[in-house]
Amino acid sequence: MGGSALLSRARAATPTTITPDEALAKLKAGNQKFIDAPQLCELDIAKQRKGVAGGQSPWATILTCADSRVSPELVFGGAGLGELFVARNAGNMADTATLGTIEYGAEHLGSPLIVVLGHQRCGAVAAACEVVEKHTKLPGSIGPMVEAIVPAAQAVMGKPGDFVDNAVRENARRTAAKIVSSSAIVEELVHAGKVKVVYARYDLDSGVVEFLS
Ligand SMILES: [Zn+2]
Repeated sequence: MGGSALLSRARAATPTTITPDEALAKLKAGNQKFIDAPQLCELDIAKQRKGVAGGQSPWATILTCADSRVSPELVFGGAGLGELFVARNAGNMADTATLGTIEYGAEHLGSPLIVVLGHQRCGAVAAACEVVEKHTKLPGSIGPMVEAIVPAAQAVMGKPGDFVDNAVRENARRTAAKIVSSSAIVEELVHAGKVKVVYARYDLDSGVVEFLS
């Protein structure tokens, strides 16, 4: 199957008409529901599956960590099938595959909001802090993966507060900035007011998503 066939097939659904700010408000309300009344986050999966089987029009893109405790659909109040376009990797980094994924979500599926979601006590970010502080050598592909987070850790080393938590915030900020600066597609959509890129931190203890931009 050619690339264009793949793209046109995936465009079966009409893109959402939700604006970037409306999407942001929906995420904030969803996170509040997750904190206040997690029992209300239940989903009618069977019904939803039927509704979106023919095509998707997600209203937000979430780039977050692979950490098993940070599931975007739950954290944002039980978002169901076809709602969130999600990319995940350890440390929520924007490598080529992730950038392409985000561009596809924004340009092709019409997702109006991109959220980079870091989180408290992130193991990948903690490893980058350890590399900076103790020059730790990491095995396999973990080393080069964590190397990409090292500049964020270096930038906040010695600053007041918790080193790892400061690096989590800085890393999310840098990833959000990189998504815009490395992608002409996203930059153009942002410039046109069709897409917003924000970054946030998830608190493992309280369940709160704190939007930082
Ligand atoms: Zn993590």
